[in-house]
Amino acid sequence: MEFGWTEEEQAHRRRIRTLLDETLPPDWDEISLHGPGSDAQTAYSKEFCAILAERGLLVPHWPAEHGGEDSPVWQQFILGEEMWAAGEPRGAQYMNVNWVGPVLMKFGTPAQLEKYLPPVRRGESIWCQGFSEPSAGSDLAALRTTAVPVEGGYRVTGAKIWTSYAAQADTCFLLARIPPVEGGAAGKAAIVILLTDMRSQGIQVKPIPALLGDGDIHEVFFDDVFVPAADRLGAEGQAWEIIGFALQNERVGIARYEFSRRMLDRAVERLKTQGRWGDAVIRDRAARALMLCEAARMLVYRVVDGKARNLPPDAFASVARWAVVQADNGVNDFMTEFLPDGLLGADPMQQAHHQRAIAAGVASGAAEIQLNLIARRWLGLPGEPART
Ligand SMILES: Cc1cc2nc3c(=O)[nH]c(=O)nc-3n(C[C@H](O)[C@H](O)[C@H](O)COP(=O)(O)OP(=O)(O)OC[C@H]3O[C@@H](n4cnc5c(N)ncnc54)[C@H](O)[C@@H]3O)c2cc1C
Repeated sequence: MEFGWTEEEQAHRRRIRTLLDETLPPDWDEISLHGPGSDAQTAYSKEFCAILAERGLLVPHWPAEHGGEDSPVWQQFILGEEMWAAGEPRGAQYMNVNWVGPVLMKFGTPAQLEKYLPPVRRGESIWCQGFSEPSAGSDLAALRTTAVPVEGGYRVTGAKIWTSYAAQADTCFLLARIPPVEGGAAGKAAIVILLTDMRSQGIQVKPIPALLGDGDIHEVFFDDVFVPAADRLGAEGQAWEIIGFALQNERVGIARYEFSRRMLDRAVERLKTQGRWGDAVIRDRAARALMLCEAARMLVYRVVDGKARNLPPDAFASVARWAVVQADNGVNDFMTEFLPDGLLGADPMQQAHHQRAIAAGVASGAAEIQLNLIARRWLGLPGEPART
């Protein structure tokens, strides 16, 4: 088996590193500390993504007919690794290029593609994902926000929670449920996806104070919000299929272990400077944290390889996601034990990593749910009965 990168892939990586070196401002680390939902990082993401767009590096993996270059899956992935290693200067926009765009291309109408894809391609738009609700997180199908069909569209009422980037977003990829009627759709079949303009009348966004960074997570309230039928994605009854496709793309796209690895390297440098790197216990623990990062990398590569070879997605993606969370937490535990002063102000980057590592096992779906999926779909163990 050959694990090496081709010449072309190495050149692609060098090109991205050069662009990052030339483009990121000297105070980038400081900007990144505010978090991807902050005003500072949102403003910077628009500048940075516009530069990526100009150089053909924002959506090169998109099909040429939608403004991309049909570039191979691995090239997209290398781009993601380098962005994460640099602290993800695309901010909230990583989501647009990874999954919002591809989902629209697969399920959107020509009018929706024309309306939504160009601003994503130019690096100008911010989306948020309106899935979770106070009583529907892991059990997403239990969502209660209603979309009542009315002439020309839907009237939406309900509440979403933990919505990242909501205060900055132009559009929400919103899940809502058509209320039951005699003989009508029920359960997952009653869910619709509404591409909702966040400036619509009746939407209220409230930030949730959190350790994660400024403006990262929110409550979003919908009070009789009108969404035109033209902004429904897919047919009524098709939402669950679309969500499955969206989540597949969302989960493979994120190379978080690359940022954990960068933090581990920084920690080792600090320990060397402090003359503590000779300590056998520290070295042993650092090696274990490193193994978690590299194991996560290899497991994620296996998923990317499947995608590159057009194999159908399988439960291995859950194994990879679990490993990525373990890497984040392993590095965080190592730094917390041996460099606790970093959390008390000596290293703001460590502090930011610490705060985000805590959330890593919950954001994008609780990691424990992945263990259920691994047990059932990978190990073939009996599970809970499937919901309709
Ligand atoms: C930083 C951050 C950003 C987020 N951004 C967004 C966003 O932009 N949009 C959005 O829609 N949501 C977002 N979320 C919400 C996230 O998707 C949910 O928090 C997650 O799906 C878990 O749902 P919950 O919080 O309701 O917890 P619950 O589902 O109530 O779970 C609570 C605990 O119980 C465990 N658990 C639940 N069910 C099972 C089970 N069947 N088997 C084993 N264990 C189980 C979970 O693992 C978890 O530890 C974000 C969350 C965070 C932390």
